[in-house]
Amino acid sequence: MCGIAAYKGTKQASPILLEALRKMEYRGYDSAGIATVHDGVITVRKDTGKVEEVNKKVQFSELKGTTGISHSRWATTGSVTQKNAHPHYSSDKKLAVVQNGIVENYQELKATLEEKGYSFQSETDTEVIAKLVEDSEHDLLQAVQDAFLQLHGRNAFVVLDSTGSIVAAKKGSPLILGIGEDALFLASDPAALLEHTKNVIFIEDNELVVLDDAYTIYNANTLQELKKEPTTINWTVEQAQKGNYDHFMIKEIMEQKECIMQALAQPKELIQTVVNEINGAFGTYVVGCGTAGKVALTSTYAFSDIAKMHINFAFGSEFPSYHDFLTEKSLLIAISQSGETADTLEALETAKAKGGKIISVVNVMGSTMMRKSDHTLMVNAGPEISVCSTKATTNQLAIMYLLAYACNGRYDEGLSILKGTAAAVDEMLNDAFCAHVKKLAEKLLDQPNIYVIGRGMNYPMALEAAIKIQEVSYIHAEGFAGGELKHGPLALIDKDVPVIAFVANDETKEDILANAEETKARGAYVIGIAPENNDVFDYWIQVPDCPETSPIPNIVPVQLLAYYLSTMKGNDVDKPKNLSKCVSVK
Ligand code: GLU
Repeated sequence: MCGIAAYKGTKQASPILLEALRKMEYRGYDSAGIATVHDGVITVRKDTGKVEEVNKKVQFSELKGTTGISHSRWATTGSVTQKNAHPHYSSDKKLAVVQNGIVENYQELKATLEEKGYSFQSETDTEVIAKLVEDSEHDLLQAVQDAFLQLHGRNAFVVLDSTGSIVAAKKGSPLILGIGEDALFLASDPAALLEHTKNVIFIEDNELVVLDDAYTIYNANTLQELKKEPTTINWTVEQAQKGNYDHFMIKEIMEQKECIMQALAQPKELIQTVVNEINGAFGTYVVGCGTAGKVALTSTYAFSDIAKMHINFAFGSEFPSYHDFLTEKSLLIAISQSGETADTLEALETAKAKGGKIISVVNVMGSTMMRKSDHTLMVNAGPEISVCSTKATTNQLAIMYLLAYACNGRYDEGLSILKGTAAAVDEMLNDAFCAHVKKLAEKLLDQPNIYVIGRGMNYPMALEAAIKIQEVSYIHAEGFAGGELKHGPLALIDKDVPVIAFVANDETKEDILANAEETKARGAYVIGIAPENNDVFDYWIQVPDCPETSPIPNIVPVQLLAYYLSTMKGNDVDKPKNLSKCVSVK
């Protein structure tokens, strides 16, 4: 979940490493640190807080040297303290290490090192890596190999030594090598490299990279040198900047005006290949976590309604319960913005181990999921920096709908329906619409609870709406299937309790309106998200009428509502507390 970066070039390293941290702060923001080498000495500056706060405290710009490493942390092992912030030194301070991941066997390794006389300054697993490398009698490359081969879990780490060499290793967590004119870079995310180079190599699992005057990539088991051609990233620098917007979240919400169309720009042959895989599979599972999990669940309804097909759903973390049903005829469709989500990745690896086929739907090019899949449908949303997913969500939905249409032999018709949906979202997202949602946020600001109901394909959207509200406004929100209300949640409804109802123009309309009535009869303040007004609504947000694809426009006003609630409360909307965008731990 952390962001790691390294720079080796001719310019001062610390401003470049600091900028890389700013770009990757969404990955973790409880502490930050930079280490550089100057005159054969490694200096580390680090502290707790967001990148800017840490920079104010420690003045990264005072760090001299043209080689260094940096880290923004999302603590997994050891609390949020200055000592636990990265980089971590070896005992002799000749090495410094940053890590993204978890060393699952760090306690055993630490105990062995302690028996050998090493003492530890922090509670982290990262410091164990620094001392394992130090403990090896070999040169730096082999010492990193020695350490790497002892680690369990998903890890990417970078070791800086006082001669100015950098060696990195990867298994499970992402690591991208950037090749500039007169500099080499490493980062957890291509967005951190865009300003300097678009020429990258996605480091694979079980590879080591050495940065000296040039770069060399090695197989981590054999130390055999590997030749790899760089690829070009197609994201632009502007996409990874806020531009005229106050926050990435609102920028990314507004980008849905155009980017749903990009999701639909899938090569037709690729869609056909995926359709053939689905049709040939004996058991298709669609898996995701968090928002991608809600997209996955929505797609089971889309496949049922549109493709007349049954597909299975599981959250990534729940997928282990299905392991016994997997065979070489199984197909797993993994949905993830980052392509690094550990629980989804584990589901993917399990299905692959049983011989099953893998399709991934991911936004980040070169991500682990993409590389481990038989076929990948790119989400094409551009970099999504705000922790709260918005544009990647609607793009993922559009792709899953397109697949459902294609499975029913209605690719062309589906594409045109979805283009209509994209155009309708573009038209909907105007100033008056935003102002209307903002007015609702003002009304709901002091509410302790918000409930959301939906039926059919809008039931997963009720769940998604609730997590949008929770994650950035910190207001308690819960989503329910409309029909489930009377089996318990109705007891929570009192006078003026806000209930958001998704009322699509489909076969669920009458029933969901009846459910909204049930809440109103108990005093609820009913907010209708619907193409048409209804007497039951106390507040109506008009969305375009897209009967078969209604989740796409429906979720957009809730994204806006969550944004306004969060900013009105003064929360850090792009970096909500306790969360990280790339959930690369289990
Ligand atoms: N395990 C390391 C720590 O707790 C890195 C955490 C991460 O990658 O999220 O500091």
